[in-house]
Amino acid sequence: VKSDEAFERLVQAWREDRLAQAYIVDSPDIDGALALVGRFLQVAHCESESGPCGECASCRQVEEGRHPDAIRIEPQKKSRIISVDQVRELQRLIYMTSFAGGWKSCVLVCADRLGQQASNAFLKTLEEPPPRSVFFLATDSPQALLPTILSRCQRIVLSESAAAMTGSLRERITEILADDSPGGLVGGLAKGDQLVALLKELKESVAEREHEAMDEEAGEREKDVLEARIDARYKAVRTAVMRVVESWYRDVLLVSCGVREGLANPDHLAAVQGQAEKGGYRVAMQSLQRVEQMSRRFERNMQEAQVLGLGFCRLGW
Ligand SMILES: [Zn+2]
Repeated sequence: VKSDEAFERLVQAWREDRLAQAYIVDSPDIDGALALVGRFLQVAHCESESGPCGECASCRQVEEGRHPDAIRIEPQKKSRIISVDQVRELQRLIYMTSFAGGWKSCVLVCADRLGQQASNAFLKTLEEPPPRSVFFLATDSPQALLPTILSRCQRIVLSESAAAMTGSLRERITEILADDSPGGLVGGLAKGDQLVALLKELKESVAEREHEAMDEEAGEREKDVLEARIDARYKAVRTAVMRVVESWYRDVLLVSCGVREGLANPDHLAAVQGQAEKGGYRVAMQSLQRVEQMSRRFERNMQEAQVLGLGFCRLGW
């Protein structure tokens, strides 16, 4: 869902007193997740009935991250892990009576970085939460959380943010798709190969960034968490890449129907038009379906080179 929509739903649940105990805010862009939570916390902690007023002491404290009833924990700088001591401190604070006499909230930034002991301790808190409390777990890799934690949280999945897809990456993808020399089967295979190579490069850079951020003395458990993170982050990137590929073939389909407005890749109109004219509506429709099929095959963990190789040689350009 879009952030605004998620916000409206949270506020409505809050006003109707049917807020869940805990939410996972799943977003490829952690800042996007935190922005949503921050907006909601102003509503939850504001002193005015119709809040957030943005002016009362509570609103200002939430905005500045120093509201005594709004607890926030994030991974330690050095280990990049949320430690069990941090969770114990959270427990101490959350079971204390609310300062303002209202709700207590707790935000876990990068909740997927809970270490094993910390996860178990946090699970206990979720199992016996104090009344009038709500938890937000902001993460870009919910797969790395304990299933027992996942099962106790309602999930808010924010739609793809701009962060996962930079302009230059989008440009590289669309250039591969725009290149029609050679055409036909050979051209299709070449596109598949180039996308496989691009994905490989993206995976390496995700792994590199994560390893760089890792403490050298990290234990085995932390290494497992790291591998899960790399895998989850890479899959988010791959999904974003496939969205661009889908948007390309949706454009081809639209243009083949004579539509020129609202295209996702207007910079490549000439190439899109060429492909639309060459195959016509029927081929464009099949192509889009085949690209969607490739995305589904990735979700079933089929091998990338095989999915893209087979998929693109059947696209029919
Ligand atoms: Zn206020």
